[in-house]
Amino acid sequence: MTGLKEGGERVTLDLLTKKMDDFARERDWERFHSPRNLLLALVGEMGELSEIFQWKGEVPKGLPNWKDEEKQHLGEELSDVLLYLVRLSDVCGVDLGKAALRKVELNALKYPVNGDGGSKK
Ligand SMILES: [Mg+2]
Repeated sequence: MTGLKEGGERVTLDLLTKKMDDFARERDWERFHSPRNLLLALVGEMGELSEIFQWKGEVPKGLPNWKDEEKQHLGEELSDVLLYLVRLSDVCGVDLGKAALRKVELNALKYPVNGDGGSKK
């Protein structure tokens, strides 16, 4: 997982936020991008992502038996979820990167390393 765009530029949440803002602005879609509308769109995309795994049973990590088209479709739906999440965070005035880092720290305090492998993953 490199997180690099073609040309070597790193893909960041800030870059995705800017691209989503530009995309909406260019199409005059900002008026549709209320927090509620974006949340509902995000939930819809979560449904599309879930459909990919629906009825398959458990699948091994790396998805070794999936066709290239299936993995590409998965990447598209994962992206839809990420992009709506980034957009929702932006219109709500939440710095998603900062909030996520803080949450990782809070989770580390809540679930300290104790060497027994833990019961939560
Ligand atoms: Mg989709």
